[in-house]
Amino acid sequence: MTEPVAQPVFFVVDEDSSAVEMLAGDLERRFEADFQVIGETSAQAALERLDALRESGQQVALVICYESMRAMAGAEFLARSRSIHPNAKRILLVDFGDRRMLEVIANGMALGHVEYYLTKPWRPRQYWLYPVVGEALAAWTRLHSPGFALVRIVGDRSDRHSFAVRDGLERNNVPYAFYDRGSPEGAELLQRLDQVPDNPVLFLADGRVLTSYTRADIAAAVGAQVRPRHSAYDLVVVGGGPAGLSAAVYGASEGLSTLVLESTAIGGQAGTSSRIRNFLGFPAGISGGELADRAYEQAWMLGAEFVLMNGASGLSASGDGLQVTLSGGGQVAARAVVLATGVSYRQLDAPGLAGLVGVGVFYGSALSEAPLVKDQDVFIVGAGNSAGQTAIYLARWALSVTLLVRGDSLAKTMSNYLVNEIEATPGVRVRLHTEVAAARGDDRLTALVLRDWATGRDETVSAAALFVMIGATPHTDWLPDDVARDQHGFILTGHDLPGKDRAATGQPVPLPLETSLSGVFAAGDVHAGSVQRVASAVGEGSAAIPQVHQHLQRQAKTQRAVRG
Ligand SMILES: Cc1cc2nc3c(=O)[nH]c(=O)nc-3n(C[C@H](O)[C@H](O)[C@H](O)COP(=O)(O)OP(=O)(O)OC[C@H]3O[C@@H](n4cnc5c(N)ncnc54)[C@H](O)[C@@H]3O)c2cc1C
Repeated sequence: MTEPVAQPVFFVVDEDSSAVEMLAGDLERRFEADFQVIGETSAQAALERLDALRESGQQVALVICYESMRAMAGAEFLARSRSIHPNAKRILLVDFGDRRMLEVIANGMALGHVEYYLTKPWRPRQYWLYPVVGEALAAWTRLHSPGFALVRIVGDRSDRHSFAVRDGLERNNVPYAFYDRGSPEGAELLQRLDQVPDNPVLFLADGRVLTSYTRADIAAAVGAQVRPRHSAYDLVVVGGGPAGLSAAVYGASEGLSTLVLESTAIGGQAGTSSRIRNFLGFPAGISGGELADRAYEQAWMLGAEFVLMNGASGLSASGDGLQVTLSGGGQVAARAVVLATGVSYRQLDAPGLAGLVGVGVFYGSALSEAPLVKDQDVFIVGAGNSAGQTAIYLARWALSVTLLVRGDSLAKTMSNYLVNEIEATPGVRVRLHTEVAAARGDDRLTALVLRDWATGRDETVSAAALFVMIGATPHTDWLPDDVARDQHGFILTGHDLPGKDRAATGQPVPLPLETSLSGVFAAGDVHAGSVQRVASAVGEGSAAIPQVHQHLQRQAKTQRAVRG
């Protein structure tokens, strides 16, 4: 056993010893008060050292590895280091201006092995080195060294209920610590109770103990606002994902009193994404949680009010305005409402799949992951047009693309032109009456077990990626019939509305993002025809605000006309 070292480690690997020395020196100059820097010049020795550090219980915060090593490529080293220290942030060091590295970085990022990259030379270090390392370190610290726990949870790690509590706190950025019931800390905390419940118990920093609770109770206990402060607002935004956050930033910054209602966690689906790589301005990507935190803080600083764990459960027109009913009881009045409630992707249930989401298993088309599939065998579950389009697109890169279809024909669910195109595209094949029975892989997807319903036979196939495209369900079942939706429940707006010319009925012509209920707008994934991307959700959230102003001006004009 190696003697444990006190501080978390920065691990630097490069076969060039002078580069290791210089990089280690530059890192120590800035970070040595809190971290220890270890350098290695042999990939094999470095892997052994990482193993030894794990054995000794030593935390590794960062692994930085040079790509062009003779014995092992840097990206390969980072992939292997990931299985030894999965929590360490992984940075690839590449030569400045070497364009071949673009593909290496893109591939590594798509697979999740590379999280950041640095260039060699990295000086001036204040410009090239420290910002990247600082960002990686902030992400590591947030997850693995929070320092202070507002809540200590005692429960069973594998229990779903305990996962839900942790996930809720994590996604809402609440610092917490988790202890298994059997651990010394967990047992010590539980001893304080007369009766120990089956569900996880929450011990708050101020001494309160929650043994039986709802999500809203937890939110209130950690100081989140769970009720609106006022009875009326200019604008109520329903949903705190990218579209809702963007509407909040623009609404509040343009002088509208703005309330955001969020039923689960700020960030929506984007908040669950480990790395969003196609959002403008973040070349190395940004974690969805961090993007959401930044947007939340921005909206809050501009004056938007947030109510968490208390979503909207009803909406109605009332006089000139609107009333939004809250799921936790009560109502709030609004002059305009932006619906940004997003969707949930339908989940595929098969052993092994859940743990590989983001590392080979993707929900939705995830076209930004195309580099991942270069010369690889990939699979798509789904039989709709989006699955067909994705298959044709990926065929440009992949060795083979296989569409897995439960039914006995593609033609029932996919447009004819796409079926023809699939038949004509080399490398794309279709397996009918087939489903995924299991997924295999340790730190990334490597194989799938496919079950043929017709023969009952299972077959294991090697697979680099699986795209699950079995549809998304919009969060709109709580809305009144006055808000028109398409046959799948997505909200229709503007020109897509049936009987769009409301002028004929004396109603104003709907604005582009306005729904069939005057003053109610839709933005983001919940909007019919949305492209279901972070950037488009953000775009629609912001675009809704000028239309809210137009609606309010229109309304004021009507009121003046009625009075005068
Ligand atoms: C795992 C994953 C990875 C992704 N990666 C990428 C990526 O890399 N790049 C990219 O462009 N896109 C990505 N996407 C898609 C992207 O996240 C979505 O397009 C985007 O989040 C849509 O934003 P939205 O605000 O419209 O909806 P959502 O993000 O779905 O947010 C809707 C919010 O509304 C809340 N809500 C729902 N009903 C109510 C109610 N009644 N009252 C109050 N609140 C309510 C929900 O809790 C949720 O927080 C990814 C999606 C997933 C699931």
